[in-house]
Amino acid sequence: MDMAPDFLDQLFSRGLLIPTGVDGLYGRSGVFEDVITRFDALVSTYGEADGAEVVRFPPGMSRMAFEKSGYLKSFPQLAGTVHSFCGDDHGHNRLLECLAAGDDWTGEQAATDVVLTPAACYPLYPVIASRGTLPADGLLFDLQSYCFRHEPSREPTRMQLFRMREYVRAGTPEEVVAFRETWLERGQQLIRSLGLPMTVDVANDPFFGRAGRMMKVNQRDQGLKFELLVPVNSEDRPTACLSFNYHQDHFGRTWGIKTAEGETAHTACVGFGLERVALALFRHHGLDVASWPTDVRTVLWGTA
Ligand code: ATP
Ligand code: ZN
Repeated sequence: MDMAPDFLDQLFSRGLLIPTGVDGLYGRSGVFEDVITRFDALVSTYGEADGAEVVRFPPGMSRMAFEKSGYLKSFPQLAGTVHSFCGDDHGHNRLLECLAAGDDWTGEQAATDVVLTPAACYPLYPVIASRGTLPADGLLFDLQSYCFRHEPSREPTRMQLFRMREYVRAGTPEEVVAFRETWLERGQQLIRSLGLPMTVDVANDPFFGRAGRMMKVNQRDQGLKFELLVPVNSEDRPTACLSFNYHQDHFGRTWGIKTAEGETAHTACVGFGLERVALALFRHHGLDVASWPTDVRTVLWGTA
């Protein structure tokens, strides 16, 4: 049975999420944010010994970098672009007339140099490239960003604006594969410590259209994407809360990133869907955080 609408209504009525009139676009309460902050901090404790470089980008990125990244080839249906009024007085008058008449006023809008970030790691690759050849051990980054995807839904776990915490590794294929293996283990330990049921499975990204079908099959066949799934909306369709992505040399080739040995760099990222993990916790432990199991509270807040 699909529980999604019920769960969303419960979250609204408890004030944990705040409706805006747009599916997938919500306010968050202080309690909801506190759960996210504590989970984010927990992720940091698992990663801290690795000494990742912390970088925080705003939730928008360069349109040029976005175009070059290939996102529009694979996921045009999810992309969000920032448009702005760039006209003169006449254009402004037309805009106001359209608005007053209830007509479409957006024709007066033009694309800016900014697009919404689709995944926390997208703004990073050009920055890595701009630093030149990778150092001998490659690079490791710690990112967190609000991300946009145009996928309006009543499933609370499928938002249009949500946060992704990521670690991103760039280096040789061996370094990058080892990084992903480590986080596959850590991710399971972490979610287990929060008392959540889970499975890990091979997955694919939602590549668009007919050409996308082949890409989905290839991604699965090569085991390039794994997800850690927790039942949130329904038992039979568990939700991807963590993703483990091996991009091979896709971003290395796109951005001309080279290892110290002069080979094209490989990259991988592990992504934590912060709202999805919070929702999984509310789903399994109840909407009142004060009555969550003691061990779960201890893991998150240090005290029960
Ligand atoms: P799905 O298959 O459910 O669409 P995905 O595999 O496309 O998700 P990724 O692109 O791997 O997701 O994104 C990394 C993480 O961001 C996911 O593991 C998930 O936790 C989170 N995430 C992705 N899309 C959404 C969304 N629409 N709302 C909330 N969190 C999301
Ligand atoms: Zn990523």
